[in-house]
Amino acid sequence: MTTEENVLLGPLTTLGVGGPAKSMVRVHSEGDLVEALAFARSQGLPVFVLGGGSNLLVGDGGFDGLVLRMEIDGALEFEEKDGAVEVRTAAGVDWDAFVLAVCERGLSGVECLAGIPGLVGGTPVQNVGAYGQEVAETIVSVRVLDLATMEFVSLSAVECGFGYRRSVFNSTERGRYVVTAVTFRFPLGRRVELKYAELKRRFEGQSPTPIEVYGVVREIRHGKGMLLVPGEDDCRSAGSFFKNPVVDLAVYEAIAGAVGNPPRARSEPWVGHSVLTVPHWDAGGGKVKLAAAWLVEQAGFHKGFVMGRAGISSRHSLAVVNRGDATAGEIVALRDEIVRRVKERFGVRLEQEPVMV
Ligand SMILES: Cc1cc2nc3c(=O)[nH]c(=O)nc-3n(C[C@H](O)[C@H](O)[C@H](O)COP(=O)(O)OP(=O)(O)OC[C@H]3O[C@@H](n4cnc5c(N)ncnc54)[C@H](O)[C@@H]3O)c2cc1C
Repeated sequence: MTTEENVLLGPLTTLGVGGPAKSMVRVHSEGDLVEALAFARSQGLPVFVLGGGSNLLVGDGGFDGLVLRMEIDGALEFEEKDGAVEVRTAAGVDWDAFVLAVCERGLSGVECLAGIPGLVGGTPVQNVGAYGQEVAETIVSVRVLDLATMEFVSLSAVECGFGYRRSVFNSTERGRYVVTAVTFRFPLGRRVELKYAELKRRFEGQSPTPIEVYGVVREIRHGKGMLLVPGEDDCRSAGSFFKNPVVDLAVYEAIAGAVGNPPRARSEPWVGHSVLTVPHWDAGGGKVKLAAAWLVEQAGFHKGFVMGRAGISSRHSLAVVNRGDATAGEIVALRDEIVRRVKERFGVRLEQEPVMV
């Protein structure tokens, strides 16, 4: 096991801000993981698990402990079982490469999650989702090291406690588990089912294959600056910076009234063009999910907004970007200003999506 000292974390994240880690170890196997944790315990160091760094905001002070950089790689294992194909994947595999391999086999279930940066092991943590799919829909089990017992165990999808951008890994059991592998299940012969309005429009009257959807999702993402393309300024982000807030129906109705339009049917999906319509989705149980991007724009933060070296992506109002050499402090200052103004205008508190280190 080789320990690197004083490693700058900013360059290991897509946002590109943040100070150094006291130490870092590259974890290539479950054995490395156990060894690294024993080392951290012997030195009294706190640990932080780093995947692809695409959902992180590292503070300027860095991390005074041991960073475990997850690089457990390996070939995907496909197994046909009870009318479905199960695919087992190591945590350090690139997520988009995994999605491509699955789509190329004609299997449907993750094609709408194409182009999300990061590694497979990071996806169950916040139950990644996009364009009408969530990773929880295809996960069978997650293999983890339980730091409470130092044993490897397999957690079923139910035990993972998935919800909107939520799992036990980022809520009730935060810091307890390190994901080393994930198993997914894709029913054989399942046809692509599109839920997202823009995708439905693109494929109207057609029955697209998973790989066709994969390509179009990446194209849409590129248009929104939500695909990591080297050299593009809007890519220095952590993706969506705020979660879509889920509020009581009465809060939604008050906002709709305040912007001067009658509320639409709760079940009507947002197609996203009129500024007068408050975009929303029915979240069930008398709750409504609001579009954080709309709230941010309406509070005065248009695409391309600039505040020092931090700003908003020129292609997506929900992506906070590092415009070059920003500090974490500058990103946080912009975040706080957005949260303050949205709260002031709509009474809704936005919650940050990227994990703060
Ligand atoms: C341009 C862009 C677009 C994005 N689009 C989307 C999107 O559409 N939908 C969406 O949901 N997200 C999106 N994201 C966010 C991000 O890509 C995902 O959350 C991704 O799954 C994070 O994986 P990662 O490997 O980069 O994790 P990291 O950012 O390295 O870590 C995130 C969290 O997961 C933990 N973690 C990572 N790996 C492990 C592991 N093996 N075991 C235990 N804990 C672990 C970390 O400790 C940390 O708490 C986007 C980000 C960017 C930059």
